[in-house]
Amino acid sequence: MNEYIPFLSKSRFIKGMQCHKALWLQTHRPELKDEVGDDKQAVFDFGHKVGRLAQQMFPDGIEVPFDDVPLAEQIEMTRRLIDSGTDTIFEAAFSYDNVFIKADLLTKSPAGWHLGEVKASTIAKENYIHDIAVQYYVVTNSGIRVEKASLVLLTARYVRNGDVEPENIFVWIDVTAEVLRRQEAIRSEIDLQRTMLKGDMPKIGIGRQCKKPYDCDFTGYCWADVPRTPFLTL
Ligand code: SF4
Repeated sequence: MNEYIPFLSKSRFIKGMQCHKALWLQTHRPELKDEVGDDKQAVFDFGHKVGRLAQQMFPDGIEVPFDDVPLAEQIEMTRRLIDSGTDTIFEAAFSYDNVFIKADLLTKSPAGWHLGEVKASTIAKENYIHDIAVQYYVVTNSGIRVEKASLVLLTARYVRNGDVEPENIFVWIDVTAEVLRRQEAIRSEIDLQRTMLKGDMPKIGIGRQCKKPYDCDFTGYCWADVPRTPFLTL
């Protein structure tokens, strides 16, 4: 009998980095997830808009669609684009060892591919490095040579003068060295998450991790019996 290997995606992995219980709930009890409120939706929408702006830096880029397209088809499409000599791919899809990722920007250079993770932020936060590090792990293990990994952030210095100029809005932060340094930790964390997912729900109490780095989607479930006192702001 084949061994059950729980599926992970970039977003699931990142969720698990924040809290194993959140990943377990997402995998086994997704119906307990909070509804997406207007605030959260606005953040998603803004992130989406920033992603679209970043794509405009590469007029010849080709996007691998994701809505209603099976993951295997997205991966196949990506492979075809690479094989046919495409220089810039948006939302390139890869899977390695049942971990699926989509890369915001993948651009070709003479030395290899440049992986870019777009964030609607002016600050290079710690969790963004995990995000691009797991992408690097999957992309390189899929046989793609990545020579550089960068966070693509909004610049705080941009002053709009007329039409929006995407090439002046973003700043590229080279995080290749840090991404390389984390590869072993990424491998270990994937193993830990998989082992955890094969068991019962982890016994993890509420805490700071419920809010950082992201507001957890399962606070309605975990915090149901917690009185709304100033403790929430601790
Ligand atoms: S609410 Fe807190 S304890 Fe519950 S799953 Fe989310 S991060 Fe974990």
